[in-house]
Amino acid sequence: MFVGDYHTHTKYSDGKGSVMENAVAAKERSLKEIAVTDHGFHLFRQGLGKYLWLKAECAEASRLTGVKVIAGAEADILSSDGDLDMTEKELADVDYLIAGFHKFAPPKSISDFFKMYVVTYFNGLIPTGKKSLQRNTNAVIAAITRYPVKVLAHLNHSLKVDVALVAAACAERGVLIEINAKHLKDFNGQWEALKNSGARFVVNSDAHRPKEVGALQAAFDRAVKEGISPDRIVNYCGE
Ligand SMILES: [Zn+2]
Ligand SMILES: [Zn+2]
Repeated sequence: MFVGDYHTHTKYSDGKGSVMENAVAAKERSLKEIAVTDHGFHLFRQGLGKYLWLKAECAEASRLTGVKVIAGAEADILSSDGDLDMTEKELADVDYLIAGFHKFAPPKSISDFFKMYVVTYFNGLIPTGKKSLQRNTNAVIAAITRYPVKVLAHLNHSLKVDVALVAAACAERGVLIEINAKHLKDFNGQWEALKNSGARFVVNSDAHRPKEVGALQAAFDRAVKEGISPDRIVNYCGE
């Protein structure tokens, strides 16, 4: 059983369902909470107004379903300095911030495009070099240091990092490491480092359709099989 799913998308960005549909799906899976974490640049490209609509919809869906629907956002890590794609003003309105690297996001500079983004297109074909790994690791640590990030989304997906170092930084700052149901293979070969870090985890669906909301069991089972103790997974609440 899980308390909540803290990474879900709706039509406010690239998801297929509405806030209400995600809330209903969560209720069907007996979740108490969900965070709607649409991509920041979709939400705020048209100004703060759109986000206020999302907040109102979250409040309404909470009222009608009894599931607490938290208005969050998923920000992109855009540069080697850890810049996110959201302004301070935008962040101030967001109740639940998760952050991760996305290769479709616009890089902050030409230099970052070549250093961080081009490499990600060749992932799986060529190993990430030592320098790149170091740069990527610093970028992610800078992002969680500079911003009020609650969850580091799909760590090691696209942007390869030194997982042990990032996990240690997360542990130190109280940032949860996401076990993303859709990107489990990015943890291949990394479970030992995760297990040995002091970090805590949250298992999330990264649902882009309502029926995926709360689909957490398989990812949870895999993490436990790999040696992560269930009591380190904060949204797990027992059988
Ligand atoms: Zn993402
Ligand atoms: Zn996402």
